[in-house]
Amino acid sequence: MTNKKCKYIFVTGGVLSGVGKGITAASIGTILKAKGYKVTMQKCDPYLNVDAGLLNPVEHGECYVTHDGVETDLDLGHYERFLDFETSKYSITLSGSIYKELIERERAGGFHGKTVQLVPHFTGLVCEKIEKASKDSDIHIVEIGGTIGDYEGLPFVEAIRLFANKVGRRNCLYVSVVYVPFIHTSNELKTKPAQNALKDLRGFGIIPDVVCVRTENPAPRAICEKIAAFSGISSDAVVNLPDIQSVYDVPFNVLKSGVLAILNDFVGSDKEPDMNRWKEFSRRRAKKYARTVRIGLVAKYVGNDDTYMCVTEALKASAAWDKVNLDLKWINAEEVEKNTSLLKGLDGIVVPGGFGSRGVEGKIKAAEYALKHNVPYLGLCLGLQVACIAAARLGGLKDANSEEFGARELDGNNVIYIMEGQKGKESTGGTMRLGDYKALLMPKTNVMKIYKKAFQANEYIYGTTVLENGKVEVIERHRHRYEVNQKFLNVIRDGGVVVSGTSPDGKLVEFVESPSNRFFVATQAHPEFKSRPLNPHPLFREFVKAAGSNKTA
Ligand code: GLN
Repeated sequence: MTNKKCKYIFVTGGVLSGVGKGITAASIGTILKAKGYKVTMQKCDPYLNVDAGLLNPVEHGECYVTHDGVETDLDLGHYERFLDFETSKYSITLSGSIYKELIERERAGGFHGKTVQLVPHFTGLVCEKIEKASKDSDIHIVEIGGTIGDYEGLPFVEAIRLFANKVGRRNCLYVSVVYVPFIHTSNELKTKPAQNALKDLRGFGIIPDVVCVRTENPAPRAICEKIAAFSGISSDAVVNLPDIQSVYDVPFNVLKSGVLAILNDFVGSDKEPDMNRWKEFSRRRAKKYARTVRIGLVAKYVGNDDTYMCVTEALKASAAWDKVNLDLKWINAEEVEKNTSLLKGLDGIVVPGGFGSRGVEGKIKAAEYALKHNVPYLGLCLGLQVACIAAARLGGLKDANSEEFGARELDGNNVIYIMEGQKGKESTGGTMRLGDYKALLMPKTNVMKIYKKAFQANEYIYGTTVLENGKVEVIERHRHRYEVNQKFLNVIRDGGVVVSGTSPDGKLVEFVESPSNRFFVATQAHPEFKSRPLNPHPLFREFVKAAGSNKTA
């Protein structure tokens, strides 16, 4: 079952977490993809949760959803943005899910009386997961979460060591990302923690082929040489990756560092990576333009990019492609509840996904404000639900609300209600409507025009199909429990909002829009998950374009 042609890159981290191990791994992948290889990535995370769905986004960042409906963490979003492939349930391997699978197998008698152990059972299952995830790849990159030496991470380290026995050491490249701090009081860079981390890694049987030394500022060559000398690694293989403005410049940093020669050697090809599109993106992103669009993100958790990572990335990429500066304003939804003047002066409003009632009245007010003042609006999942509630209220149903926030069928105000089969599951994991679902777009709607235009320009084709009858079918990822109650479509229409896309059987509302607005589009899906820096999602692009359209240079 092993994919014989695949080569594997294992990326571990030392000293501290959060120093850009994932971005370094994705950047190496980007370079290899630019050399023409099919590259995939996988994250092995040692925490004991079964998935990331129930994790608090403030602590853990955005929950990212794969096309096949797994709730994962934001690393997979980075992988998709850098490598433009679709991750899957095989791209994430958490200790919790491995234990769960082993215990279920044991309970079902699958081990035939054997003692179940970390080695070889846990490690064996991790190897199986790596093989599955790399099934169709030329190069498969596995990032191990946390830092070397963490208790929970040890079985993963042992698994990736063992993996080389399976596929041959020459088919594996071990990359260690270590941090070298600068101590201001003594005015020097300290390599000791990095040396210790590499010693630990050696103790687990892995001598890395590449060591990426992360520093705040460019480090003198002597620092890398010292680490090389103390760790028994050739000095060419120890490279410096200093901090850089944007994560999308890291591939260029990696190229500059000298790693390319090692990668070339590993894959057996000197072909130059074609980084032209990334260069163009980097140029556009760094440039200052004559026009600035001010977009308000009306949300519950403000000020932290991680919580709405895909949304902010999609906006930034769209601004770069539309050649405008993005002025992103984080607006606390709870404050909008009391004071809608916070929305004044915005060129566009985004209401992203969300759960729970805190701040929801502010989000409803934001949608209402957009409807009343003809301000471009993009609603994502909860953003669609609040748009429908706002429209129903404008249409005359004053107490319109969602069952999530206390509306009841009995009171005739449940414009948003719980989906069939979701009752009683409100605080359980992995039970929402998750992952890819099709939607059929209504003819002549703005949404249909946007997707069709992008499809025809070959700019956005992920799952978009123009059917023979001229209708457009799209596939987007989902993560929700509630939906629009179609009983209320008339009152929603009276408030100025119409349905522009439904599930193919017509049962679920997937897109709504306001025909009289310059741009007012909301979707029950999360198009941000499929937006790419080199290919921003058309709904985001058109939203940013509309927001900038009343601006003069
Ligand atoms: N809380 C809403 C639901 O469950 C919206 C979910 C979301 O925005 N992802 O339907």
